[in-house]
Amino acid sequence: MPVADYQTYCTMLDRARANRFAYPAINVTSLTTANAVLRGLAEAKCDGIIQVSTGGAAFASGTTVKDMPLGAISIAEHIHRAAERYPIYVALHTDHCQADKLDSFVLPLVAETERRRAAGLPNLFSSHLFDGSALPLRENLDIAIKLLERFKKSDLILEIEAGVVGGEEDGVRAEANAKLYTTPEDTLEVAGRLNSIGARYLLAATFGNVHGVYKPGAVKLRPAVLKECQDAVIGRFGQSAQFDLVFHGGSGSELHEIHEALDYGVVKMNLDTDTQYAFTRPIAGHMFSHYDGVLKVDGEVGDKKAYDPRTWMALGEAAMAERVKRAVSELRSEGTSLFK
Ligand SMILES: [Zn+2]
Repeated sequence: MPVADYQTYCTMLDRARANRFAYPAINVTSLTTANAVLRGLAEAKCDGIIQVSTGGAAFASGTTVKDMPLGAISIAEHIHRAAERYPIYVALHTDHCQADKLDSFVLPLVAETERRRAAGLPNLFSSHLFDGSALPLRENLDIAIKLLERFKKSDLILEIEAGVVGGEEDGVRAEANAKLYTTPEDTLEVAGRLNSIGARYLLAATFGNVHGVYKPGAVKLRPAVLKECQDAVIGRFGQSAQFDLVFHGGSGSELHEIHEALDYGVVKMNLDTDTQYAFTRPIAGHMFSHYDGVLKVDGEVGDKKAYDPRTWMALGEAAMAERVKRAVSELRSEGTSLFK
């Protein structure tokens, strides 16, 4: 199916919230990883979200070019074409973009969508994350309001973040004393300032989650924080103010914690670390077990079939697709595709 349009994306999110499931939002950095997600989602009969980070976008443009919008547009254009061949819908999203990177990442992509719409073409991306979590909440929301007003005109959905996700992603490391749990007061301020704009947004509230993967026990997740935030906002602004929540840094979480978060309104769960490992694992196996094929040992010529990048990238694609299917099942979204 084509990339989900705004109405379809909204219907996807509504259904997830009503039925207490979430969509996996998987980071991709190449054609092959994008294809892996499409394949995994299609095999699980689940719609989903494909996202590109600043680092992933720079990588996709070429390691010497390092042009974030160029890489993001290249991946998005590939997905717009390739998604037509899979019986599911995907939304296209951009991941963490701090305030100092808006001008070099998200805003050029928004301008590209505006340009396309003016020419009668579909949006390039469906949604973008502005990560102002390193700023005081007031400044974070000042920027979010401006973005949301602009996004509204182009049917773009904004994701914002209140509270800091721990750990490290794309070389950005959260400070040790960062605020790892969003408070009900924070979310009242979010709803109080953003809801009157009348545009859809997603909220990444934090409940002890961390980027990257940690050994069991290292992470103290408190999904109940999400319920406290939802209860506060519904109490103040009514049922319709309930948030569409996003779960960042979910790699390595316990299944019961994931399910509890879904019960409290998480509709999008980001996956990067786990799918990175899933992609690389069979490639490592291939290199070790075909040592004398992928290398030219002792004056030999190696084995072209073994070192052809297609051979081992196909293994990565298949394994990453399997990991996406596992995420779909953990997020209770198997078989939920709007495409019938
Ligand atoms: Zn994140």
